[in-house]
Amino acid sequence: MYGDVVMGVHSSKFEAVLDRVREENGYKFDNQMTVEQLKDVVREFKEICEKDGHPLPQDPMDQLWGGIGAVFQSWMVERAIIYRKLNNIPGDWGTAVNVQTMVFGNSGDNSATGVCFSRDPATGENYFYGEYLKNAQGEDVVAGIRTPQPMTCLVKERRKIDLPCMEEEFPELFKQLSDIRAKLEAHYKDMQDMEFTIQDGKLWMLQTRNGKRTGTAALKIAVDLVHEGLIDKKTAVLRVEAPQLDQLLHPMFDKNAKKEVLTMGLPASPGAAVGQVVFSAEDAEKTVQTGKKVVLVRVETSPEDIAGMHVSEGILTARGGMTSHAAVVARGMGKPCVSGVADLRIDYEGKFLKVGDTVIKEGDMISIDGTTGQVMKGALPLVLPEMTGDFGEFMSWVDEIRVLGVRANAETPLDAKTARGFGAEGIGLCRTEHMFFDPHRINFMREMILSNTESDRRKALDKLLPFQRKDFIDLFTIMEGLPVTIRLLDPPLHEFLPNKREEQIEIAQQIGVTVEEIAARTAKLHEANPMLGHRGCRLGVTYPEIYEMQAQAIFEAAVSVMKSTGKQFVPEVMIPLVGTKKELDMMHKAVDKMAQKVIAESGHTFEYKIGTMIELPRAAIVADKIAETAEFFSFGTNDLTQTTLGMSRDDAGAFLPEYVQKGIYEADPFASLDQEGVGALVEIAAERGRKTRPNIKLGICGEHGGDPKTIDFCHRVGLTYVSCSPYRVPIARLAAAQAAVRNEKK
Ligand code: PEP
Ligand code: MG
Repeated sequence: MYGDVVMGVHSSKFEAVLDRVREENGYKFDNQMTVEQLKDVVREFKEICEKDGHPLPQDPMDQLWGGIGAVFQSWMVERAIIYRKLNNIPGDWGTAVNVQTMVFGNSGDNSATGVCFSRDPATGENYFYGEYLKNAQGEDVVAGIRTPQPMTCLVKERRKIDLPCMEEEFPELFKQLSDIRAKLEAHYKDMQDMEFTIQDGKLWMLQTRNGKRTGTAALKIAVDLVHEGLIDKKTAVLRVEAPQLDQLLHPMFDKNAKKEVLTMGLPASPGAAVGQVVFSAEDAEKTVQTGKKVVLVRVETSPEDIAGMHVSEGILTARGGMTSHAAVVARGMGKPCVSGVADLRIDYEGKFLKVGDTVIKEGDMISIDGTTGQVMKGALPLVLPEMTGDFGEFMSWVDEIRVLGVRANAETPLDAKTARGFGAEGIGLCRTEHMFFDPHRINFMREMILSNTESDRRKALDKLLPFQRKDFIDLFTIMEGLPVTIRLLDPPLHEFLPNKREEQIEIAQQIGVTVEEIAARTAKLHEANPMLGHRGCRLGVTYPEIYEMQAQAIFEAAVSVMKSTGKQFVPEVMIPLVGTKKELDMMHKAVDKMAQKVIAESGHTFEYKIGTMIELPRAAIVADKIAETAEFFSFGTNDLTQTTLGMSRDDAGAFLPEYVQKGIYEADPFASLDQEGVGALVEIAAERGRKTRPNIKLGICGEHGGDPKTIDFCHRVGLTYVSCSPYRVPIARLAAAQAAVRNEKK
């Protein structure tokens, strides 16, 4: 290791010597070597270093300084850079070195070393968990080269492991270690990850720290610690990282599906994964780029595989224990992992794996269950998890604590149902143009856009009206009186124009004009800058009949649902891309007129709200004036970011990653709000809006609404709610609760 890590001599050169000595003598492990053989190995190792131009320093102090330097240098190796990127750790933090006197776990059979956790870091279950190896040092346990032994008889029985456990081999020391486990947990009030060494029958603790854990474990441990009286609910809420919650929302294998278990390994990181088999991290990255899902299969993983592991659905390894690299990294990433599958043979050259007589080739589908350790051939069906038990209890604490409301961006019945299932308190953004993405409907929308005259457009709108009304009836019905904010049409034209020849033929037939006419009209409507073009309320200003039709559909749907359910609710109509009060006034008047018309025609009176998106810097600056008309604001931070930074949402991908890498922006400003710039505009708009209308409702519905850091910002600015995609609703609820606790502490 010293030669490899400190001197930079490739480890394979040393491994080759060990392999040769093992083979010559028929040894399974290095510690079977005699002292004479070891001396020969050391001599050869020294020669290798010397030949490589890196003679091994003989002064122990020089060796120590070499080691210290290597730790500092490790901050800049590629895998550390990737790890930081994946975990949002800034590169300028740097690292630190502890110099510590060590004891020897490899000084004979009365010595050992191990890694243990005070609870199971994969499931969170409260039992002593870990692995150890007799006559070994720390790296032997974690490197996945030798399969370690379990700590307790419980684990041995449960996993049917045919190796002696520490409880049997070192009963006295095991008892001592168990007491330390209890003491440390009570002191730190959190699950501990501990390393220990036994040297000639004496137990030494090397370190303890709060243990890394899966989302499942984080949640279970937090709930259990509250029940055990060790922490309060507010602390518990901080113990589960918001993005980790995502793991609990991922699909699981359908319990009712028929499955044939090919083999079993250790359940190293829970969850279900289905994908094509790949045998290297590079192949994983390449295959995923083609839109496929993969399971990475390795004899063992090493830190170099980290990028490939990240893109895989799951990881399967032949060697290694529960604390091996693959297991630890997979748990950290929330990826399902099955490790230590003893009967798995892998042929990297031939690109296939074998279990008994079954051969699985690269590209074949497999399914792995990181919760049970089972490996299945083929693709097993997946189902969504249930939100009950510990999860339900934890989320009830989250909802008690948070101040911010959480809504969802949803337009289809399925999205709305999913959002409610995840606890959304309303719809914060229904993008009406998305209701026409469906291939059966898009041509009606195209017909409307391509109309040359108002009367043609009205004809097309008449066809759209029933669809819209039906969609809104569905949404209002599903949301059962919860607030629903419907945004009037905001179609960036390039997303809807028929650019392909076949599309033009289809729409020409539908309207009954020539393809040439369609092509000419499409060309005329082409915009060089569609995101800053004829969209949002500009469409309503130039073609008022479009927004009139939508307002009619919304109010008629609302009346229909209010009548059928006997319950009143307040539909919210939102005008997009407003920059001036005048635009909003015009749209407000048109929508108002429609509401009055529907009330008169239906004989049913109801309340409604008309508000606006704040998506342009100008709108933020004149928010006091806009609030004279708008009853609510929703910050469209996608466009507000685009227009404030002067970076196109569609084109920034070409240079933005480099901007983030070079630290110009701390994170992608389209994913996590640029608080200093765009955030300042949000603050200005909130303040000015409230000046005019003190109780104005303020929401955010850009992509940022589901980002925990942005949610913290929204809490501080005092917004009313955040709105995000349905699957991020639980994450947003948790992030909102964490923002409340953190800012209270400050
Ligand atoms: C926004 O701009 O943030 C927004 C929510 O609207 P869209 O993404 O539809 O432009
Ligand atoms: Mg927008």
